[in-house]
Amino acid sequence: MVNLKSPQEIEEMKKCGELSARVLRMAGEILRPGISTLEIDEFIERVIRMNGATPSFKGLYGFPGSACISVNDEVVHGIPKASTIIKEGDVVSIDTGATVDGWVGDNAWTFAVGPVSSRTKTLLEVTEASMWAGIEQAVPGNHLGDIGHAIQEVAESAKLGILREYTGHGVGRVMHEDPNVFNYGRKGSGMKLEVGMVLAIEPMLTEGTFKVKTMPDGWTVKTQDGKNAAHFEKTIAITKDGPLVLTQE
Ligand code: MG
Repeated sequence: MVNLKSPQEIEEMKKCGELSARVLRMAGEILRPGISTLEIDEFIERVIRMNGATPSFKGLYGFPGSACISVNDEVVHGIPKASTIIKEGDVVSIDTGATVDGWVGDNAWTFAVGPVSSRTKTLLEVTEASMWAGIEQAVPGNHLGDIGHAIQEVAESAKLGILREYTGHGVGRVMHEDPNVFNYGRKGSGMKLEVGMVLAIEPMLTEGTFKVKTMPDGWTVKTQDGKNAAHFEKTIAITKDGPLVLTQE
């Protein structure tokens, strides 16, 4: 069941969205060779709590961190660790959110640490562009498949892989609500988009195969071929005027 949000509720969700976006930007700013993913996670948790909010990811389905931090061939759900040290040339995806007044924010960004290969540069640029192409389709009267189709077109134009097992989703008082937002699809297919839907749109793209495997820790999802992956995500609301990005400063 899709929980439609009233204009008043969407207004309330701007607060968690703003803080989620701010903490994600700040996490990107402290990224440097030598920092551990656990230090980044602790920083994120501190910033969220200093603002009187709670980290939406902490304890969700038993996840230990306040952010999923996934490095290089890790696509999503990387567990922050003292032993994972960032080095020059890494690509680091940070997925995090803050809960404010009972509303959840969810957003992700992939950062390059120092120079990366031109293929990886393309990966980052195209994954972000595919997210924006998907967001652009989030207008009343369109269908879920229009979002997926737009993301797929951009991704495949650069011959990038699209994860099949993981999708975007509705967001509200809990992190994962209906519907699933696929990152591929047919134009005009699927559920009709309505004013009041709040969706996390989050393409997860790879340089090579889209096939992934889950590590023995039960969380970390890696590409099967060991090539880099990227993940960009924003939470948006569908309004009568079109998509409104909630996770923005
Ligand atoms: Mg999400």
